[in-house]
Amino acid sequence: MIPKVISLSNFPKKGLYFKGDVPLSVESFQKGYVHSINSIVLEIEIKKVEKIFILKGYLEEKISLFCSRCLEPFPFNLKIDIFHRLEENEDPEVDAFFIENEIFKPYDMVYELIDINLPMKPLCSENCKGLCPLCGGNLNIEGCDCPKNYKRS
Ligand SMILES: [Zn+2]
Ligand SMILES: [Zn+2]
Repeated sequence: MIPKVISLSNFPKKGLYFKGDVPLSVESFQKGYVHSINSIVLEIEIKKVEKIFILKGYLEEKISLFCSRCLEPFPFNLKIDIFHRLEENEDPEVDAFFIENEIFKPYDMVYELIDINLPMKPLCSENCKGLCPLCGGNLNIEGCDCPKNYKRS
């Protein structure tokens, strides 16, 4: 498992390396359409170049989201490359993550990286037919006998 906090003080010359699971839960996400989390794996290497900490690696997540049309869960898997600086500055630049007193919190970074990649409107497929407005049946699975020219008045 990846540690919750990584101290960068007394930084070893050869750098730091971590690989393991990040145990974020469904509840840790603010977007309510996260259905389940199968795995989140992080591999990172931290190097110090002059006085700058450089973070390199990748994040691989396998999670499921609820489709916003048919409400069925569907897999949303991503592999995200990581190449960032770590900065003490409270308002870090676009390509940097925030550290405080040489303490880096990888879970916060993982949350941010996944959250920023979550879709505004999750769809199981671009062609998802959604639910029938009359009977509530999932139109992807089977058609229903409801009149197709139905319009809400
Ligand atoms: Zn759908
Ligand atoms: Zn129907």
